[in-house]
Amino acid sequence: MNVMTPISDERLSAAAKAFLERPKQLFIGGRFVDAAEGKRFATEDPATGATITEVAEAGAADVDAAVQAARRAFEDTWRDMAPAGRAGPMFKLADLVGQHLEELAELEALDTGKPVAMARALDIPFAAEIYRYYAGWATKLEGRSYNLALQGDPYHCYTARQPLGVAAGIIPWNYPFAQASFKIAPALAAGCTVLLKPAEQTPLTALRLAELVAEAGFPDGVVNVLTGFGETAGAAISAHDGVDKVSFTGSTEVGKIIARAATGNLKRVTLELGGKSPNIIFADADLDQAIPAAAMAIFGNTGQVCNAGSRLYVEKPVFDKVMAGIEEVARSLKVGPGLDPDTEIGPLMSRDQLERVTSYVTKGREDGAEVAVGGSAIGETGYFMQPTVLTGTRPDMAVHREEIFGPVLCAMSFDDSDDIPAVANDTRFGLAASIWTRDLSRAHRLARSINAGAIWINCFGVFDPNLPFGGMRESGWGREMAREGVEGFTEEKAVTIRL
Ligand code: ADP
Repeated sequence: MNVMTPISDERLSAAAKAFLERPKQLFIGGRFVDAAEGKRFATEDPATGATITEVAEAGAADVDAAVQAARRAFEDTWRDMAPAGRAGPMFKLADLVGQHLEELAELEALDTGKPVAMARALDIPFAAEIYRYYAGWATKLEGRSYNLALQGDPYHCYTARQPLGVAAGIIPWNYPFAQASFKIAPALAAGCTVLLKPAEQTPLTALRLAELVAEAGFPDGVVNVLTGFGETAGAAISAHDGVDKVSFTGSTEVGKIIARAATGNLKRVTLELGGKSPNIIFADADLDQAIPAAAMAIFGNTGQVCNAGSRLYVEKPVFDKVMAGIEEVARSLKVGPGLDPDTEIGPLMSRDQLERVTSYVTKGREDGAEVAVGGSAIGETGYFMQPTVLTGTRPDMAVHREEIFGPVLCAMSFDDSDDIPAVANDTRFGLAASIWTRDLSRAHRLARSINAGAIWINCFGVFDPNLPFGGMRESGWGREMAREGVEGFTEEKAVTIRL
């Protein structure tokens, strides 16, 4: 088979270049193998549209082989290993990720277009912390003891947790390396074995991760990585009877497809889906903090963030000031290729994504919104887009209701007559909300009444391994991170003993 020569970029380190030179195969049962049908597909640099390299394309037969490898690894080793034995390679993996931080950040920036500085400061170190954090959980899972309500002695009752079995992670392209850790780490800590399917747009760091997994000393088959497409590999995983759980992050539309596919064997499903999250700034807020945060809540990662603060509501007396501040940020942000060290905002992921986002702006204009700043694609090469602010949007407009997944903010003002919880909750989503005020009672009241899995008060986008994250309504099912994350890969049984 002809293997194409990968892209060569002088901004890449020798380690990243060496990785790109190696074959990109599937990782099944501890071995790197070509896809059964020999297929490959290209991954593209969103800053130029050029092909970076080709990777193996998994089909149903590869999914089946990976499920079998994961099942064997589960039954033969991982399930019954002492918890500290499971933690060992997980800690090692966390260390390896840290040691290869620069290379991983470069590969992530190249494949996703995101600023390398961000990948270096956030995506990769955060993933390392997730592996470390959940390595700690491997030794801390526990049950509880219960007293029966209707029986006195002589019963002793307790619950015990056991791993679900073979777990699959299907992840999107916006934070590939971090998303992989959100799926793999809690599953391994719980005693499950794993199949990871990265998004077809961003397979590279998942494959580098597979190499680090091999180096960390996991038994063969405990972690398997399948690069491939959603409609084929992803669909085969979610319909496979040998998979006990799918943990999915991506669009609400695909989340529903996966939920339906999972009904065959009623596999467990966790869904972390889209959002249209409100960001509410009151006149008494610390605007020096609120303004840059509100701007980056929608422009950060080029708006390709499930919890992006895409609906901004500003109390009337400070609306003009906040808008002026956000527009200034929008104009000053340095948009460029992810590998440029001073880039603050990278391109959108793909031509499709650029077309999707710009057509939302066009639709918004047709519906009567005004473009206060930005609104267009930048240049002919790559998928760059100006940070954009729309004003005059109304709740009935598509730009206001639907997840755009791009750097497009809908900004509105409000006053005392508006019922802010009702305004914030006027959405089918419920992922996150941000509230900026110095009034403590108001902050707590809103935290209670807004339907969102994450409420950030006087801050935005604070993620922590020890804080559960997930959505209400059509933003998803279940929670990731924290205790909830690892318990989501277990089944609880109640044991009742008559003494
Ligand atoms: P986005 O909108 O962020 O591109 P998607 O929801 O389309 O996200 O994709 C997220 C992940 O879901 C990717 O790994 C993709 O390959 C996968 N996927 C897409 N379609 C399906 C499907 N029908 N079944 C299973 N997985 C899918």
